[in-house]
Amino acid sequence: MSFLGNLTVITGPSGVGKGTIVRKILDKHSDVWLSISATTRKPRSGEIDGEHYMFIEKKEFQEIIDREGFLEWASFSSNFYGTPKQIVQEKIEKGTNVLLEIELEGARQIRKSFPEALQIFLAPPDLSELEKRIRGRGTESEESIRDRLEIARKELMSKKEFDAVVINEDICKAFQEIESLMGLKLTN
Ligand code: 5GP
Repeated sequence: MSFLGNLTVITGPSGVGKGTIVRKILDKHSDVWLSISATTRKPRSGEIDGEHYMFIEKKEFQEIIDREGFLEWASFSSNFYGTPKQIVQEKIEKGTNVLLEIELEGARQIRKSFPEALQIFLAPPDLSELEKRIRGRGTESEESIRDRLEIARKELMSKKEFDAVVINEDICKAFQEIESLMGLKLTN
């Protein structure tokens, strides 16, 4: 496929603040488009179908896999997550700045299919800070928190695979670093 638009992948452990930074990018840069993933996870309180995710059943997720409708997909903490292929390809072909906020296995798949994509790893200052943030969010069960921290340890070991590592100690600084990496006009 020809590659016209910019594709940026943001990966990083659960709780690191990817969501907050991505929202800030979308608020400040109307030319950036975020792909809405499909997931088999149940919606958290306040999450809206079609806005935060497309919340679907496992059977439907499997059907999309079977017809090769995902650009990438992965299993994360007992749920499935995938990036819809067609709309992302259309956006890229039109020259749009496309942003994917996905976990490690998905980022690795994108690296194979889109080696030109910019891959950013957002890291916490340390694991205890990450645990504090996940607990502070109050959205996960104890089992899910442990699971997410275990995955985070593994994900952190993969940092060097990425084009850039941004440490989210100060959200404004991390945001500005990402703006600059993406070649966006700097805001404050
Ligand atoms: P959460 O359940 O906290 O919303 O998301 C769990 C993890 O799945 C996060 O690391 C998030 O970035 C990742 N994720 C969300 N959508 C996708 C997707 O389409 N593909 C992949 N591979 N990971 C995703």
